[in-house]
Amino acid sequence: MLALLVAGASAAAAPRFALEPAERAYLDARGPLRVCVDPAWPPLEAIDASGRYVGVGADVMALLTARAGIEVQLVSSSSWRDSLAKARARECDVLPMAAPTPDREAWLDFTDPYMDIPGVIVTRDDVHHVTDLVQVLDEPLGALRGFSSVQTLREQYPSIRLVEVDSYREGFEKVQAGELFGMLGNMASVGYALQQDGIVDLKIAGWTGNVTQPSIATRSDEPQLGRIFQRLVASLRSEDLQPILNRWLTVRVEPGFDQRWFWRTTVPILLGLLAAFVWAESLRRLNAKLRLANGKLAESSRRDPLTGLGNRIHLDEQFPARLQTCVRNGLPVVIAMVDIDHFKRVNDGHGHPVGDGALRAIAAELRAAFRREDDLLVRYGGEEFVLLLAGGSIEEALARLQAFRERVAGMTIEAAGVPLNLTVSIGVQAVQPRFGDTAEKLLQAADAALYVAKAEGRNRLVRAPIG
Ligand code: GH3
Ligand code: MG
Ligand code: MG
Repeated sequence: MLALLVAGASAAAAPRFALEPAERAYLDARGPLRVCVDPAWPPLEAIDASGRYVGVGADVMALLTARAGIEVQLVSSSSWRDSLAKARARECDVLPMAAPTPDREAWLDFTDPYMDIPGVIVTRDDVHHVTDLVQVLDEPLGALRGFSSVQTLREQYPSIRLVEVDSYREGFEKVQAGELFGMLGNMASVGYALQQDGIVDLKIAGWTGNVTQPSIATRSDEPQLGRIFQRLVASLRSEDLQPILNRWLTVRVEPGFDQRWFWRTTVPILLGLLAAFVWAESLRRLNAKLRLANGKLAESSRRDPLTGLGNRIHLDEQFPARLQTCVRNGLPVVIAMVDIDHFKRVNDGHGHPVGDGALRAIAAELRAAFRREDDLLVRYGGEEFVLLLAGGSIEEALARLQAFRERVAGMTIEAAGVPLNLTVSIGVQAVQPRFGDTAEKLLQAADAALYVAKAEGRNRLVRAPIG
């Protein structure tokens, strides 16, 4: 049920990450990164009794810094606001759990969010289910001081009556006393705080529709840091995040635990959490169904029926956006045209059905060899395929393409019962794209390189000249 918390992460592809040599040198030269956190936002992040950084953010940070071999050092701070002030004064370089606001974006760079945490409202037990924040806008609502959500909520609902409080406990007490109608917060930390404080007369009354989306913030005067962490966040998979969420968002029952208390408080809270999760999930499912229904038509026009691969329309839609991402993040782009050699002879010698079988077999080999999350593979036309390998290094991409070419040359393909020995020629454009580079231009260069590969005798890879 926690799966919906993991935003945009797919179950595909094992994590992989390598710092570019320039990034490595940069990090080595600048020494350990100083990290500022919220010392009291469990279970998302907190400083424990022995001064260690713990929680979801701590585990995500530990995972990412280990993945890249980055050294970090915790800078102590008295509160989240203190951490923000320290980051602003450049006394720390990284905030592992922060959300962008226009103000913060003036001096911090933010990665894409790595998680979605539903927002909830906590009310007294006798209040009806709240299904939308607009139902309760006339009522005084508590929110944690200094959090980005305060600003977001005020922008979204100008008439909202927000009362800023310093802790969930303070907010809960005000709700209990009737000073506040409800306390707002994210589901993870609200659930944790209710449980910690052993509160029985409050409940999670509904989902506000807002989501907390933590991302990693880095000092904006060192854009290299932002780029490194953006790539690191992009390398996160649901397999990475799921164990962390399971560890921090499940309730542990201690030995000697008061059973009555457990049934009276924890169980309703868990049911509340479950309801919020299920609710979030059913909405998501509904949206997904709508998207699916709308998408099916569009989808069929983007897929090649013979091989099941995407087609040229799909490439035309995907390539420009991916190219822009690479330009923005300083990542290389490798675009390859793979064309089967003397394919006409297959059709002429064995008939069209065998030709079709051969196309399917080559498509299957391509799909198996280029299945990473960032790989884009389409049947561009006839016996021509296009691969877009974005994200990794150029050398690695060229090596993968060469290995594929060699593999095809060394294998016997079964096509409609006929064994065939085929080869492919590959034209590649591999560059660090610059602003103004277009998908068409890169594709044309790959096509020209393919032409050279054919002219030089086929079964080879030719890279387009740089420049
Ligand atoms: P080269 O090494 O120069 O690429 O030679 P080639 O014979 O592979 O290239 P050419 O472009 O002359 O011929 C491609 C052939 O691919 C012609 C066409 O009949 C065949 N072809 C294109 N699409 C299909 C298809 O869907 N099924 C089958 N069976 N053949 C196809
Ligand atoms: Mg051909
Ligand atoms: Mg061709």
